[in-house]
Amino acid sequence: MNTRHVRFAPGFSRAALALWFGVVLPSSVPAPPDPHWLAHDRDRPLPTPVDPGTSSTQEQPGRPPADAVVLFDGKDMSPWCAMDGSPTKWVVRNDAMECVPGSGYVRTRRCFGDCQLHVEFATPTPPHGEGQGRGNSGVFFGLDRYEIQVLDSYGNKTYADGSAASVYIQYPPLVNASRPPGQWQWYDIVWTAPRFDAEGKLRSKACVTLFHNGVLVQNHVELTGPTGWLTRAPYSAHPEKLPLSLQDHGNPVRYRNLWVRELGPRGKPEFMLANTVLDGYSGTYELNRGFNAEFSRGPDGTLLLKFGGTPFTMFAESPTHFFAKTTDVQAEFQTDGDNKTVVISVGEGGMKAKKLK
Ligand code: MG
Repeated sequence: MNTRHVRFAPGFSRAALALWFGVVLPSSVPAPPDPHWLAHDRDRPLPTPVDPGTSSTQEQPGRPPADAVVLFDGKDMSPWCAMDGSPTKWVVRNDAMECVPGSGYVRTRRCFGDCQLHVEFATPTPPHGEGQGRGNSGVFFGLDRYEIQVLDSYGNKTYADGSAASVYIQYPPLVNASRPPGQWQWYDIVWTAPRFDAEGKLRSKACVTLFHNGVLVQNHVELTGPTGWLTRAPYSAHPEKLPLSLQDHGNPVRYRNLWVRELGPRGKPEFMLANTVLDGYSGTYELNRGFNAEFSRGPDGTLLLKFGGTPFTMFAESPTHFFAKTTDVQAEFQTDGDNKTVVISVGEGGMKAKKLK
């Protein structure tokens, strides 16, 4: 018989079909995307409504989606700081955030892992320099590890893996969708952060999808490791959530309408505090129950707590409040007159401890 004309009648079992055709078919039906829900399950929660905002034009920035974290609205640069946590020297001019050459990168105070990031930028006009020296900046994930190149690539030849919208040193964009210098351009980026296990071994690579001015230019590419000049370095372990940063490459590139949406489970917001603040919290605190709590800096700059013989990595929810992710241990730093104190709580209540001089 000619099997090309056989229809898979809904009533036929897979076993019957297999017997009929003398072939082996997969023994189970395809699993649903989430095995906790039936296909068309009436009890499955509906997606949360989100006002999607509006698109930008050259004349006017758009309005971010309602659930976005706004990183720059044309006026307020407070979500940003210099890399060490001190105030940035970048300036706000004509409703844009502008790189001041020589002032260093800027980073967000808040940390992000998997996310959707919207960035609008304009390279200087009239253009100066050529190749990598023309309108160079960059959008970084993982603090300063993974760069999506920002460059004036409009009629400006440079190496492919350093063009605008490249994953620097790794992936050129699929096409060059650049607008002329001075015009507003935008990146819409879907970022998946790399994951590391407790021993610091790579569990999954970073992944990125990127639209440049609405044109797909990076299609779910896997990063080989950090981006950097000259070498493709291997991954090294870091926290899943870290600040985003923008590069100072010596050109006064402008930014506007910056927003980000966190993807994945909703967690507490996490912030990267200045080293001076974390150093100030480090030390031994004497509890009133006859044992001490020890705060110190971890190898990657995080704040570590040794408490009850167990080490915890502490994440900053605010400039004074920290939490662990493995156990509900929280710490609130306070200043009590001349004394620095911390209230440590485990699931409930709180124990006040005074810092030893
Ligand atoms: Mg760059």
